[in-house]
Amino acid sequence: MPEHSGPDPAVHTTDVREPARDLVVIADRGVPLVPNVGVIGGRDAVLVVETGIGIENAETVLKFALEYAKGRRLYLTTTHFHPEHAFGAQVFAGEATYLANSAQAADLEERGPGYLEMFKGMSDAVARRLEGVEPKRPDLVYDQSYDLDLGGRVVQLRATGRAHTRGDQVIRVPDVDALFTGDLVEAAQFSIFPWFPPHDTDVSGTRWLGVMERMADRGADIVVPGHGEIGGPQLLADVRDYLSLLRDETWRRRDSAVDERTIADEVSALMIERHPEWVGREWIEKGVGCLCAEHGGPGEPAEHAGPAA
Ligand SMILES: [Zn+2]
Repeated sequence: MPEHSGPDPAVHTTDVREPARDLVVIADRGVPLVPNVGVIGGRDAVLVVETGIGIENAETVLKFALEYAKGRRLYLTTTHFHPEHAFGAQVFAGEATYLANSAQAADLEERGPGYLEMFKGMSDAVARRLEGVEPKRPDLVYDQSYDLDLGGRVVQLRATGRAHTRGDQVIRVPDVDALFTGDLVEAAQFSIFPWFPPHDTDVSGTRWLGVMERMADRGADIVVPGHGEIGGPQLLADVRDYLSLLRDETWRRRDSAVDERTIADEVSALMIERHPEWVGREWIEKGVGCLCAEHGGPGEPAEHAGPAA
């Protein structure tokens, strides 16, 4: 189980960036379990991306969004089902239409309750944040792609297929070439592999790398990561290159039958040497574990009773 020893994961609207016209980001301020929250405006409507963890944070985001919208209609979407991204959606009921891809909706339903319990065990601060939370079913579920017309601005919601979770989606704002990636991309952090066998083995390093290769090829001027500073196309390339190296270094050792503990130690040391300033070092060995299991081809997610993503 992941541990949480950082500060209270509160969303504060004290650091709001505007990387493009009518597109703002409530910055995560470098606090673990606080996501970057997006608010994207059009003439008639506003789309909120991510809720923060728990009811109080979502109330903060909703209040900000209502003030920002100035009477425009509200929509909500989340990049994936993880608690700091989606476990506040219930607060938006009656105020916003919640849209998500079908694989994420399945994650919310099937994985949500387990993650609620797991996160409550991480720390008292997180448990307090999660009081009263019930993972919410989206109001509108699409399958692979959905174009949301905000009035003079069409936002593209796109399911990526299984990567960081089964149900990841990215949100692209084509007129300013901005991309919200959720946890597919972090800035100055090692990629978060939620690899918790036997409970959750949905993450796929090989498929994630495939997603990043396609995203880096296409690029984006403005990249809003799940956590960390807003960046540009280099952020996409950095994650692609990290995942590629992680796979190659893991598999090279696996080929010569090195045991998994030794692989994890050696690859962690190598990656830390490569990126000494990146945080989240504990995720490297989770990534090694996932990629060891995928040696010879991506595995299928375990304990999955829903429709294929
Ligand atoms: Zn996540």
